[in-house]
Amino acid sequence: MLSGRSAVVTGGAQGIGLAIARALVAQGARVVIGDLNEAVARQAVEDLGGDSFARFSLCDVRDGAMVERLLDTAEEAFGPVDIFVNNAGLTRDATLRKMSEEDFDAVVDVHLKGTWNGVRAAAARMRERKAGSIVNISSMAGKVGNIGQTNYSAAKAGIVGLTKAAAKELAYRGIRVNAVQPGFIATPMTETMPEHVKQQKMAEIPMNRVGTAAEVANVVVFLASDMSSYMTGAVLEVAGGRFM
Ligand code: NAP
Repeated sequence: MLSGRSAVVTGGAQGIGLAIARALVAQGARVVIGDLNEAVARQAVEDLGGDSFARFSLCDVRDGAMVERLLDTAEEAFGPVDIFVNNAGLTRDATLRKMSEEDFDAVVDVHLKGTWNGVRAAAARMRERKAGSIVNISSMAGKVGNIGQTNYSAAKAGIVGLTKAAAKELAYRGIRVNAVQPGFIATPMTETMPEHVKQQKMAEIPMNRVGTAAEVANVVVFLASDMSSYMTGAVLEVAGGRFM
């Protein structure tokens, strides 16, 4: 489905990002991972089949110049970028009473500013070729809001607004911008969640199980591919029916 396409995945060293990179490669794309975690990302490149299939570029998505270098690396390795996935993320959970301003800024910076950096830089290059697909990873937290996640819920809801605004701006240049809202997915990010929080989330899921990173990745592949050629500004939930 993606033979010959050049793709970038931020935060692709592990978890959902790595699953997305794996699914893109499986469909014929070549992927550059932009991540902070160099050791884990280099291992990911090996897992994806080595240099012919994937590369790594050290990237903090909060830094616009590093995002530009990430795109340069992808262009040099695999040609002009067709697919850009804004996936990098982190959590700093606490109730409003306990959350520091630093915790709020850190989460908003990585998710919202990072996604804006990615959309802006990728779109500037894609518009010259009048083609491209950008996929932003939001969260169900951005739809319903989670206790202890005022920072994360705000950032993930912000990504929805950003996705729709960018989709409207870029449609006439042949660039599509869509978002995915995963629910409760088994990754290193959710591994450390307290047991009572996990149980509470499970009770809300009609399909009665956690999702896998591969199940999120399949939807990203769909949005990245021509299978979704008439879709832009869409927000697809991958949550086992939770909060439908
Ligand atoms: P993860 O396992 O923690 O992976 C996130 C990756 O992003 C890590 O490799 C991390 O590197 C990297 N990263 C963090 N800050 C970065 C930055 N400033 N610049 C570049 N890379 C950075 O998380 P995940 O569960 O796969 O989540 C991936 C995305 O899905 C996130 O946007 C998350 O919010 C979203 N999501 C996850 C779930 C879920 O249930 N897991 C649900 C909804 C949405 P370090 O390890 O060095 O920090």
